[in-house]
Amino acid sequence: MRSSTTTRERVGLCWDCQHKRVVSTAKGSTFFLCGRSITEPGYAKYPALPVFRCAGYEGEVTGETPIGS
Ligand code: SF4
Repeated sequence: MRSSTTTRERVGLCWDCQHKRVVSTAKGSTFFLCGRSITEPGYAKYPALPVFRCAGYEGEVTGETPIGS
């Protein structure tokens, strides 16, 4: 059976933000920790998901060269 909601949709921007840290527990739960919260008090350590808007969002660096550059 296929879920109609993907993990990315449930997580939002944190999914591919370079500041997130994925924390997994022994019981199989997964949490998204915001790395910015360590140095910037305006960010929640564990933001409420899904995150739709975030001024601190920065996409992950893939090392790929953008087309046309
Ligand atoms: S900066 Fe924003 S989008 Fe990135 S991990 Fe923190 S809360 Fe999520």
